[in-house]
Amino acid sequence: MPELPEVETIRGQLAPIVEGRRIREIVVLDPRWCAPLEAAALAQAVRGRTVGRLARRGKYLDWQLSGELHLLMHLRMTGTLLLDPAQPPPYVRVRMLVGDHTLHFSDPRRFGTGQLLAGDDQLESFLASRLGIEPFDEGFDGALLRTLARGRRGPIKPFLLDQRNVAGIGNIYADEALFRAGIHPLRAAGALAPKQYARLADAVREVLAAGVDAKGASIDDFRHLDGARGSFQDRFLVHRRADEPCPDCGGPISKITVGGRGTYLCRHCQPVPRRRRG
Ligand SMILES: [Zn+2]
Repeated sequence: MPELPEVETIRGQLAPIVEGRRIREIVVLDPRWCAPLEAAALAQAVRGRTVGRLARRGKYLDWQLSGELHLLMHLRMTGTLLLDPAQPPPYVRVRMLVGDHTLHFSDPRRFGTGQLLAGDDQLESFLASRLGIEPFDEGFDGALLRTLARGRRGPIKPFLLDQRNVAGIGNIYADEALFRAGIHPLRAAGALAPKQYARLADAVREVLAAGVDAKGASIDDFRHLDGARGSFQDRFLVHRRADEPCPDCGGPISKITVGGRGTYLCRHCQPVPRRRRG
């Protein structure tokens, strides 16, 4: 699934192309994309509006349209946005004509969504219950992580994946951040030392910045606007590297399951959680 760096890559590529341009047409081929709003109603509301800013919130793309309308897109598992492809791509669910360009939303698994929110208040109240702090915001640090995690007995990895705590982290970047911070993914979220929260906050920022720098990771469906692949998968230290040597200690990378997700770690560099006595 596209995570913060992948969505940010798309945003960065698309913004200069669409900002200031008019949406001439939006054709919703799969009504499930914007349900319960009817496809025709969405198309009518969006048509003719100018794109002010293309922003990102967590893993959402926020099209800020004239008249204070927000079109909020989530790519989910397999969604990709393709600009002016030579051949019409398969699995297209939405087609947008923006300025002189055609944008196709291709999404084989059909989990991606689009929804309209009228005004900033509606946007903020929608996001408030879904997204926690942005990792690149000033307030994101070890002290904040520690406060958020206080009293949480569940493991740290699902805590990081919960978008209501920190926005934008998914399975790849959680594994990579926990490895860099030397924290076992099964450690209780609320039981880390203050220094570990600080290391984790730094590691989260580091891996997300490295992901943005590499224009995302293309292990499954993620592609750039022109169909090209990101390269962060070549820089994974542990994710999808089971049995390969740990870059720090040379021991084998292990794969376990945490909260139903394939999870990669080095058992030596990320010591197992201490068992409770008695
Ligand atoms: Zn190691």
